[in-house]
Amino acid sequence: MVLAQLGGSIARALQQMSNATIIDEKVLSECLNEISRALLQSDVQFKLVRDMQANIKRIVNLDELAAGHNKRRIIQQAVFNELCKMLDPGKPSFTPKKGKTSVVMFVGLQGSGKTTTCTKYAYYHQKKGWKPALVCADTFRAGAFDQLKQNATKTKIPYYGSYMESDPVKIAVEGVETFKKENRDLIIVDTSGRHKQEAALFEEMRQVSEATKPDLIIFVMDSSIGQAAFDQAQAFKQSVAVGAVIITKMDGHAKGGGALSAVAATKSPVIFIGTGEHMEEFEVFDVKPFVSRLLGMGDWSGFMDKIHEVVPTDQQPELLQKLSEGSFTLRLMYEQFQNILKMGPIGQVFSMLPGSSSELMPKGHEKESQAKIKRYMTMMDSMTNAELDSTNPKLFNDSRIMRIARGSGRSVRDVMEMMEEYKRLAKIWSLAAANAQADRRHGRSS
Ligand code: GDP
Repeated sequence: MVLAQLGGSIARALQQMSNATIIDEKVLSECLNEISRALLQSDVQFKLVRDMQANIKRIVNLDELAAGHNKRRIIQQAVFNELCKMLDPGKPSFTPKKGKTSVVMFVGLQGSGKTTTCTKYAYYHQKKGWKPALVCADTFRAGAFDQLKQNATKTKIPYYGSYMESDPVKIAVEGVETFKKENRDLIIVDTSGRHKQEAALFEEMRQVSEATKPDLIIFVMDSSIGQAAFDQAQAFKQSVAVGAVIITKMDGHAKGGGALSAVAATKSPVIFIGTGEHMEEFEVFDVKPFVSRLLGMGDWSGFMDKIHEVVPTDQQPELLQKLSEGSFTLRLMYEQFQNILKMGPIGQVFSMLPGSSSELMPKGHEKESQAKIKRYMTMMDSMTNAELDSTNPKLFNDSRIMRIARGSGRSVRDVMEMMEEYKRLAKIWSLAAANAQADRRHGRSS
């Protein structure tokens, strides 16, 4: 996804700033201009970018920062916070409760992925124990009901719709009533989308909303919408009480910055993102981990402090030495996995790094994650010393991969997956090392 490019550009701007010997107004302005340019190129609305720049300048008042303050970190943190603020309207959206009927209505332009997303949303909740049901109130698009029916059948979710009835309000009400009687606890209403914002679409949406009294209205937006995102999202919000946003097609080549704008326009959080055409390609959206990942930065501001705080004194020099060398070997990964499994102190340090244990061990999935880590360790047990101490993934040619797979009784695919994980963590580690080195160059300690 192209949002990664945005993250890369911002991370580079911050890194360039870190390389400057003295951080003064000029360096800060250059860095902020670079970040603003990247955001604008990714289709974030101009006003949001301008406000962000002004906010950071206000927060990072270089004149008032006493000497010895780590300006680079304060700036990094301010950029991070502002990006989070853009994506977080500050209030959570309504969340349906199991066993209590909730009606959730979906709105959005035709082609945004609304119908697909309705089913993904239903399927996601079904897997977690809800009893969802789908109502097709899209009487405008021929084939809409068939599409919903097909998706619903595949995922074994009850559905309601009609080929004959042309009044979407009537269908929506009948569908909701039917499923309420059946004690379904999550009733999802799909509404018509049109090619562009037109009065008739908004009027119909308003009527369906008034008649079904949804607990939550979700605005579905295609990530490729670009600079039009803000106006479009705002137009929907002005017609109905949008309470949450889902951005689709994040797997594509869209710039994705429109997502930031949509949050601002609707003052509603992004709750999920669509990452493919399949039912499972649907992810919960969390602002902080997303921004951390976007910037490839993790919680660096706290990272070094945490090492000093939680790693036993006798282990600190070794870990810091490894960090300063910047070389992240598979052996080091193995040791960190051992720590994560023990949840020892270094495990805590690693848990601060998005992309490491927070992803390896997402909350609620600890068991699966532990199994995954153990699987990786079994495969590493089949590696030679040279392999474990190498920092070069290219060493792992086909025959080595096959040997490791055979030796550990896993598939080649499993080994490749582990190598991908290694590359991801190595990247995180090298960024941490770069930060640590920059600190040393500038004579700062944590
Ligand atoms: P609607 O007109 O808004 O109801 O849109 P549809 O649900 O019919 O989706 C339009 C197209 O987008 C279909 O081909 C979907 O398979 C596709 N689609 C929906 N969500 C995603 C997504 O997250 N990623 C990708 N790649 N395609 C998606």
